[in-house]
Amino acid sequence: EVDWFSLASILFLLLFAPLIVYYFIMSCDQYQCSLTDSLRDLLTGNKHLSDIWNKTPMLTYRAAGIYCLWVAFQVFLYVFVPDFCHKFLPGYVGGVQEGAVTPAGVVNKYEINGLQAWIITHVLWFANAYYFHFFSPTIIFDNWIPLLWCANILGYAVSTFAMIKGYFFPTNAKDCKFTGNFFYDYMMGIEFNPRIGKWFDFKLFFNGRPGIVAWTLINLSYAAKQQELYGQVTNSMILVNVLQGIYVLDFFWNEAWYLKTIDICHDHFGWYLGWGDCVWLPYLYTLQGLYLVYHPVQLGTANVVGVLMLGLIGYYIFRATNHQKDLFRRTDGNCRIWGKKAKDSECSSMCVDGTKYYSKLMTSGFWGWARHFNYTGDLLGSLSYCLACGFAHILPYFYIIYMTILLTHRCIRDEHRCSSKYGKDWKHYTAAVPYRLIPGVF
Ligand code: NDP
Repeated sequence: EVDWFSLASILFLLLFAPLIVYYFIMSCDQYQCSLTDSLRDLLTGNKHLSDIWNKTPMLTYRAAGIYCLWVAFQVFLYVFVPDFCHKFLPGYVGGVQEGAVTPAGVVNKYEINGLQAWIITHVLWFANAYYFHFFSPTIIFDNWIPLLWCANILGYAVSTFAMIKGYFFPTNAKDCKFTGNFFYDYMMGIEFNPRIGKWFDFKLFFNGRPGIVAWTLINLSYAAKQQELYGQVTNSMILVNVLQGIYVLDFFWNEAWYLKTIDICHDHFGWYLGWGDCVWLPYLYTLQGLYLVYHPVQLGTANVVGVLMLGLIGYYIFRATNHQKDLFRRTDGNCRIWGKKAKDSECSSMCVDGTKYYSKLMTSGFWGWARHFNYTGDLLGSLSYCLACGFAHILPYFYIIYMTILLTHRCIRDEHRCSSKYGKDWKHYTAAVPYRLIPGVF
């Protein structure tokens, strides 16, 4: 059943999320990243909506060509180039890997080759920038708004296709979820793991590529634009490129681990993931770099060190916490955390066919400090990207505001699910680890 609050939130997002993205990108394009100047212009009658819209670059053939080539290239790398990185990179888990058991009891196989796709794409990018010069490295920035229309077309097309597919030709009918509410089903998805053929998995492809592979390229394009406009790349731009680059590389290095996260294990594929991955992620996660093109901030040494330390500490907590859970689950709790045998809280759950599953929730290490300390690390890292931009404008801080809302909501959503899944066992666990994000506070 869909309660009225969920429905209202979904309608709000369906209506306003595309406008929010447009508002941020337009504010940079027409108002030097000020979020208030456009509103002041409209309220004072200085400008009409049509004036702003008429100044907005439209879809161009060039942008459509670039975008089609980009997506086609990523599809090619995903489907037709099996992973070879795991053959020579020690410690890297790639190639064919298994996902978690779905509610219907299915275990999907995935071709993990995201790191390889990222490396090939970036090698080609640098080869072009320094040797071939087929196109300017500022190409993404220069076509940013026309590309936004392309990303929206793909985002809506894939979400609509996923909905139709869920009704008429699902990959696994037993893993479909129908609430009967059109908007909810469109937004949150019907199919659990929609696929075309044996290997093209919608969730893995759209979440990782084209959005996350593009993330670092978008930042590089912003750095190139700074170089073109001001003859130098500022240290804040380098910081944003490096810190977000670490986050992106971490994602691909750990792509097999990603199969065990909520996105893949619990979320169905609808507009939330489809449109979100195509539009929201590449456009709003990269706002800091975009801002720095318009406002080239040069930080003092103490600030550079402070931002870098915060970013690295956040990253360390994020990765170490996720690693602890991964190790704990892989070894069924037979592992050592911080030099001691891992402690846990036993729990059990029931599958749709009535089979009882036994599991364990870890209460050692960072997981003994708070129930979602991995989110806390993520938030510290996110804050560092924003701080790199100084304090002149609110726009670069959108990311930390958004991540706080996203991860707090995720916390509540996940705990609601775990509580119904584990029942009284979940209560025992939350009594042992009483805080969610910040020990002693929340
Ligand atoms: P988690 O990796 O925290 O996974 C939550 C699941 O882990 C629960 O549903 C439960 O699953 C299991 N679990 C919970 N507590 C324990 C415990 N104590 N011991 C063992 N297992 C436990 O969440 P996410 O998948 O949301 O996040 C993964 C990472 O991705 C996070 O670091 C997050 O910050 C990041 N992320 C980043 C986003 C971005 O946009 N940048 C978006 C979303 C996430 P089970 O049913 O198996 O028990």
